[in-house]
Amino acid sequence: MPPIVAIVGRPNVGKSTLFNRLARDHRAITHDRPGITRDRLEATADLNGRFVTLVDTGGMDYEAEEEIARQIVVQAEMALTLADVVLFLVDGKAGRTSLDDDMAERLRRTGKPVVVAVNKVDGQERIAAMTSDFHAWGFPLFPLSAAHGHGLGEVVTALADLLPEAGDEPEVQHLRTVLRLAVLGRPNAGKSSILNALLGEERLIVSDIAGTTRDAVDVAVIRGEKRYQFVDTAGVRKRTRITDGVEQYSVGKALSSAKRADVAIVVIDATGGIGVQDKRLINFLDGERKPFLIAVNKTDLVPQKDMQDLRKDIAEELRMCSHVPVLYMSAAKNKGVGKLLPQAEAIWAECQIRVGTGELNRAMRTVMDKHQPPLVNNRRAKFYYLTQAAEAPPTFVFFVSDPERVRDSYVKYLENSLRKLFGIAMAPVKVVCRGSH
Ligand code: GDP
Ligand code: GDP
Repeated sequence: MPPIVAIVGRPNVGKSTLFNRLARDHRAITHDRPGITRDRLEATADLNGRFVTLVDTGGMDYEAEEEIARQIVVQAEMALTLADVVLFLVDGKAGRTSLDDDMAERLRRTGKPVVVAVNKVDGQERIAAMTSDFHAWGFPLFPLSAAHGHGLGEVVTALADLLPEAGDEPEVQHLRTVLRLAVLGRPNAGKSSILNALLGEERLIVSDIAGTTRDAVDVAVIRGEKRYQFVDTAGVRKRTRITDGVEQYSVGKALSSAKRADVAIVVIDATGGIGVQDKRLINFLDGERKPFLIAVNKTDLVPQKDMQDLRKDIAEELRMCSHVPVLYMSAAKNKGVGKLLPQAEAIWAECQIRVGTGELNRAMRTVMDKHQPPLVNNRRAKFYYLTQAAEAPPTFVFFVSDPERVRDSYVKYLENSLRKLFGIAMAPVKVVCRGSH
């Protein structure tokens, strides 16, 4: 992978103009990406003989100040994850703004090498006046006219000098991905808000530069040395159209996202409770033995006196999969959201449990002696032995004389016993009865 140079800066400072100048063959190689990175452009560029991937992180034409401020956060975080070197473009005509200062501060904190180019310095005479404001940041500074190509050589050389030695990897590669997560749930449940609450602070990362699938835009949250990857966030963000007053909501899509994740988060709107569609999704996930948890969002809209009833109702709805943890939160008030990642990680840790065959058979012998499998058509299935066939989810295979004579209720008893014996409280458990001859 070639090193990555990210161009960051406020809208209208000339990022696209510069990008197009630097890109080797922009028509052939530039392409945009959907979702969050919808307007991010990438191209290959040649910086004094070194090939780099040039990324234009901007491009969204925001009007509102807060939207621009938000974009600056996103760009800075993208630069943090993606970039080996950052080219921070400012507008010499407009002068230094507070948003520029904000960006400079964020970039400084990433610790990445930064080059500042003061754009729109079209003539020689005003160089000093147009650049003087920006020296205060202490980054290497170059006057530039992207439109006319003046000053390009100096900027390119400065960037090339800061590239890592060939073969060096960007730092982010060393971060361990602990968990892949999918955020699922009905439109308006608050999925984007929860993601934003998680990403909001400085750790937001837009990533997956190598991703090829159109909808597969992944976002990572970095906590210390850990990297949590949220899959398919484009789908999360996509506004669902209301057609004929009927919500378009595809359980199938949710499931395909869930397949890419280790643990799924099902977001429920506390004001609506668990609806029919939520139930379908939950039943699917449970049937697939997918590790998941429920995030009941918008608790700020539920009066305190009704909370107990809400908890009771939800527990009632989930009685078929009572192992699934339920977290109550308000993304809007940023309350309770912080528990999501540790909880998801705890579920995933349980999924990794491994029990040896000897221990398993000794422990389960007692359990099965206490409650024998019931007679079915006057015959009782005989259990020979069991073994753990897989992890994530923990899968236990019982070898049995007549599997068809084992009732679901007995399978449930075996599952609950396994849970108790081996401390699997939140993860799904798969119990299989297989004929043995
Ligand atoms: P972006 O939003 O940062 O990608 O900015 P653009 O590349 O779209 O440029 C914004 C505006 O600034 C456009 O009207 C460009 O023509 C203009 N512009 C870009 N570079 C220069 C320059 O070097 N000098 C002048 N005078 N205008 C420029
Ligand atoms: P998504 O369609 O599931 O991604 O839902 P959004 O995150 O877009 O949220 C839908 C609406 O609910 C938006 O108007 C949010 O501002 C609002 N919302 C999200 N979370 C909360 C919350 O915790 N409390 C309140 N009161 N509103 C919320």
